[in-house]
This record gives sequence, structure tokens and C-alpha cells, in this order.
Amino acid sequence: MERRFLLDLSLEELEAELQGMGEPRFRARQVWQWVWRHLCFDVSAMTNLPQRLREDLANRYALQLLRTLAWERDEEGTEKVLLGLPDGASVEAVLIPEEDRRTVCISAQVGCPVGCVFCATGAMGFVRNLTAGEIAAQVLHFALALREKGERVSHVVVMGMGEPLLNYEATLRALLNLNDPRGFGLGARRITISTVGVVPGILRLAQEGRQFNLAVSLHAPEEGLRRRLVPLAERWPLAQVLRAADAYALATGRRITYEYVLLAGVNDGLVHARALAKLLRGRLAHVNLIPFNPAPGLPFERPSEGQVELFRRELLAHGVDVTVRRSRGLRISAACGQLRSRHLTQV
Ligand code: SF4
Repeated sequence: MERRFLLDLSLEELEAELQGMGEPRFRARQVWQWVWRHLCFDVSAMTNLPQRLREDLANRYALQLLRTLAWERDEEGTEKVLLGLPDGASVEAVLIPEEDRRTVCISAQVGCPVGCVFCATGAMGFVRNLTAGEIAAQVLHFALALREKGERVSHVVVMGMGEPLLNYEATLRALLNLNDPRGFGLGARRITISTVGVVPGILRLAQEGRQFNLAVSLHAPEEGLRRRLVPLAERWPLAQVLRAADAYALATGRRITYEYVLLAGVNDGLVHARALAKLLRGRLAHVNLIPFNPAPGLPFERPSEGQVELFRRELLAHGVDVTVRRSRGLRISAACGQLRSRHLTQV
């Protein structure tokens, strides 16, 4: 019998499955707490379960986390891992430690169908969706490592490989499982879903009644340039994306973050900053500027710090709230997809 990945299940599903095995309902809650609260992935160590049930669980469910295939850490502690999936595919996840934060950036897909022209993952094409368990397991991987130091994952961003809203059900389930206060208990406001602007997904998410943060990747303030940088954007024009983001802000009361990768000489001019400010005027919005991280084979350059500062000031002068993402891990293949690309060329 093929074993199911236990992390793919919600607590309610686990209850139903265990009840189907003739177990009382509270057993599922015990298993759930072992896994999601105590980060125990060895059924034999779940000592408050009867021996017979432990054997049944081991026969029916796979519980081990993902294998580490490659690993890098920079001098600031940013750590990137390439995790192996049971079918031989692999995904990247990153831990970004800052003063009081331990943020984990996770992937929702193997490869990506969006094809942003400045992205190493986009250049790989799309391989497959991750399951809910495979998405959550990336967070649990770092949660286990941090526990050794008496620390916890404080924030999660779904901003690694892939477009989470094109893998909606699995992404949402993973995040709800991580959010569940009966287990891992990570607050929804500490979780950010980053989308390139998948309008139906944004509108659906707005109806979920959750407080997740939404980050929308714009990368350009006008349609033509945006379509050149983000090919999938052809399906969802800017005006529709902004309307959907407004609907999300209205439904949740959460401010939207607009991500903007700055590419030297492409979208980093003051004219672009002004157009971006005009687009966001009157919106519950915050812009996060991301100076491009150079990657082998990608024909773009990082703007100078001076240019980034000019862009930032222009937005500020037009009343737009803006931050610049710090360059972390420039030396550790930090842009998504780079570690995986390198690993694949080595094996
Ligand atoms: S930037 Fe994100 S959405 Fe664009 S190709 Fe890369 S992984 Fe996909």
C-alpha cells in the first residue's frame, strides 16, 4: 500500500481517517500535536499512543521531512537549502534571520509557469505543483533546526519557487495547517503570500476570511513593460490585478505590499517611479523595492545604490510608503532557483 504523506492532511481529515481505523477522535489530536507542536516525525516516539496504533500509522503514512540535497549559509546567517522530494524533484527554501525575526521563505511549485524574464526559476520552466505537506515541510525543516537553538520560525513568506495562487488548494492547506493554533500556531498576520497577480486566486483568497498578508509583484508600472518582464501577466491586465488587490485589502483590512524588482536601465527610471506612484495613489499600499540579484545567464544588471535611492525618494515624494529589501545572501545564490540550477548541473 502506498503511504500517504501525513503532512498533507488537515486535522479534520486525520480525525476522519483515524476514526475509519476504529480509533477514538482524540487520537488524531494527539498525533497532530506530536507532529505540528512537538515537531516529532518518528511514530515510534509518540509514547502516548498504543503500540498497535503506532504500527498502523507507520504502515499507512510517510512522516519524514524532506532530504537536504544542498545547503549554503552566508556571513549574516541567511541559510538556503535545496530539499529533495520523494519523486526526485527538488525545491529551495531560505531562512532569513533578522534581529527579532526568523523568516522562512518557501516554494509552492517545482519550477514556475510564469516565466519572469529576470528569474532563474522562471528559466527552468514548470515541473509540478507541490503538495500541501511538501510546502509545509519546508517550514518545519527550519523549525526543527531553530529549536536546537531555542528559537522559533516567526514569519513565513511564500515567495520562493513558483506561483502560489496557481497551486491554490495545496498552498492554502499548508498555510492553514501552519496557522492552526492546535499545532504549529503561526499567526496568519505573520504569513505572506506573494503572487504575480493571479486575479482569480486573489479574489478567492479575499473570500477565505483569513488575515494573511498579500504581496503583489508588479515589477512595472505600465502594461507593455510588465508583459515583457512577466509573460503570464498577459492573462491578467494591471487594472484587473489592482482591482483584485483592492478587494483583498477591503475584505481583510490588510495593507497590500507591491513588490518591484529594480532592473538597471529597464524599469528603474524616475519616469517609472512617477508612473508607479500614480498607479498606487489612494490605495492601501506599500512598495517593496528589490534591487535585482544578478544570476548567471540572465541578461539584467543590478541598479547602482544611488539609482535605487533616487527611485525610493521619488516614490516617497509622491506619498507612497516604500522600503528597499536589504540584499541578503548575495553570495549564496540567493535569487530563487539559483541553488537548484547549480545543483542540477553538478549531478
Ligand atoms: S519571479 Fe516568481 S513568479 Fe516569476 S518566474 Fe520566478 S518564481 Fe515564477
